[in-house]
Amino acid sequence: MLGRVLAQLEDLKSSPTGTVIFEQLDELLGDHRDIVARIDQTYALLLHLLLESYATDPRAEHVMKIHAGMIRSRETPPGAEQPTAQPATEPEAPAMTPADAHPVWGRPAPPTSAATPTAPATEPEEPPTEGTAAALAASAGERRVHSAYRLHLDRKRDEIEKLQETLAKSVTEAVQQNREFGALLQIELRALQQAEGAAEVEQLRQILIGGIGELIQGQRQLGQKLHRTGDYLKLIKSDSQRLRDELNKVRLLSLTDEFTGLPNRRAFMRRLQDEISRAQRYGIPLAMALLDLDEFKAINDAFGHAGGDEVLRCYATQVLTVLRHHDLVARYGGEEFAVLLPNTAQEGAVAAMAKVRERAQATNCVADGRKVPMPTFSAGVTLYVPGEAPNVLIERADRALYRAKRSGRDRVEIELGAPPGDSEDDQTSGF
Ligand code: GH3
Ligand code: MG
Ligand code: MG
Repeated sequence: MLGRVLAQLEDLKSSPTGTVIFEQLDELLGDHRDIVARIDQTYALLLHLLLESYATDPRAEHVMKIHAGMIRSRETPPGAEQPTAQPATEPEAPAMTPADAHPVWGRPAPPTSAATPTAPATEPEEPPTEGTAAALAASAGERRVHSAYRLHLDRKRDEIEKLQETLAKSVTEAVQQNREFGALLQIELRALQQAEGAAEVEQLRQILIGGIGELIQGQRQLGQKLHRTGDYLKLIKSDSQRLRDELNKVRLLSLTDEFTGLPNRRAFMRRLQDEISRAQRYGIPLAMALLDLDEFKAINDAFGHAGGDEVLRCYATQVLTVLRHHDLVARYGGEEFAVLLPNTAQEGAVAAMAKVRERAQATNCVADGRKVPMPTFSAGVTLYVPGEAPNVLIERADRALYRAKRSGRDRVEIELGAPPGDSEDDQTSGF
C-alpha cells in the first residue's frame, strides 16, 4: 500500500526539495518493510516452537498430535529459504504468442534480419561490378538468415529452460506430496496403535480419507501439468521443424554456393539478365564461358571425394580469381563453372581462358597433406548476340564445351551466334 502511495508521489521528484522528501519517504518505507519482515520471522519461530511442543507433548491427544505433525511437515523451518513457500502460483508452460509460433517470419523483422525466402536482397540499380559482389551480397543475406535462426534457437532454448523449471517444480511438488502422505501414514499408524475407543479410530479414519483425497487431487493436477508440458513440447518441436523447412527453402533460393563460396547458378542467371540488358542498352559486347574440369572422376578415385572437394575449392579460390573483378565466376554445377565477361569480345575472352589455364598450372593444391595435381579444364566460349534469350547464349556455350571435350579436352572451343538478321550458320573455332 505504502509502495502505491510512493508511486503517486513520483511527481515530487520534479523539484529538488520534492526529491529530498521523496527520498526520505522511500527510506522510511524501506525501514518499515524490514520491521515487518522481522515480525514475520518472529511469528514463524513462535509457531514452530508451539507445533513442536504439541507434536511431542506426551499429554496431548493423538488427533491433536497428528494435526501438529501434519502442519509441521508442511512448515518451512524458520530462517530457511522459502523457494516453494511463495504464493502457490501454478507453474505454467511459457505462453505461446502468435509471434512465438513463427518467431522469425511471424513478427516484424528487425532491420538486420530482412532476408525472407520471398524477398531476396534486391540488387542496386547499378549492379556491382566486382565478380564476387553477388557472392558477398548473397552471403550477407545468408548471414542475416543464420542470425535470425540463431535468435530463434536462443528463444527456444530459453523456453525449454523455463519448461525444465516448470517440470522440476512439478516433480518437487509430487515428491513433497508423497513425503507428506508418507508422514501422515506413519503418524496415523502410531496413532492407530495407541487409539482408544471407536470415536478416536473414526477421527483417524477421517484424517486418512482427507489425506488420501488431497493426494489424489495433487496427482491429478500433476498429471494435467505434465500433459500441458507435453503439448507445449510438441508445439516447440513442430515450430522448430517449420523453421528448419523455411531455412532449407532459403538455402535453395540463396545466391551462394556454400561449398566454394562462389555465386551459384541462380546468381549467375540473375547477373546474366542484368548484363544482357546492359549490353543491349549500350551496345557493348558480352562474352560467356562454361568451364568443366577434365577427368575429374579420376581425381575423386585417386584422392577420395575429400581430395576432389579440395580441388574444387582450389579452383574457386586460387585459379578463377585470376579473372577480372567485374567478371562473374559462378559454380554452375558439380565441377562446372560459368564465367560472364562483361564488355569483353572474342579476343578478350580467349585471353581470359588462357590466363585461367596458366594459373591452374601454377597452382598447388594440397588435400589431407598430399599434393593433388590440378586438373586441366575444357571450355566453351561464346558471345551474346543482341536480342537473343539468355538460354540461347548458354546453349551455345554448352555446345562449344561439348566440342572441346570431344576434341580431346584441355582446350577452348568458340561458337559464335549469327549476327541479328543474318541467316548464316553459327561460326565455330577452337584452340
Ligand atoms: P570429363 O568432364 O573430362 O569428361 O570427365 P569427368 O570425370 O569430369 O566427367 P564427368 O563430368 O562425367 O564427372 C564429373 C565428376 O565430378 C562426377 C562427380 O562425382 C564429380 N563431382 C561433381 N561434383 C563434385 C563435388 O562437389 N565434389 C567432388 N569431389 N566431386 C564432384
Ligand atoms: Mg568434368
Ligand atoms: Mg561435368
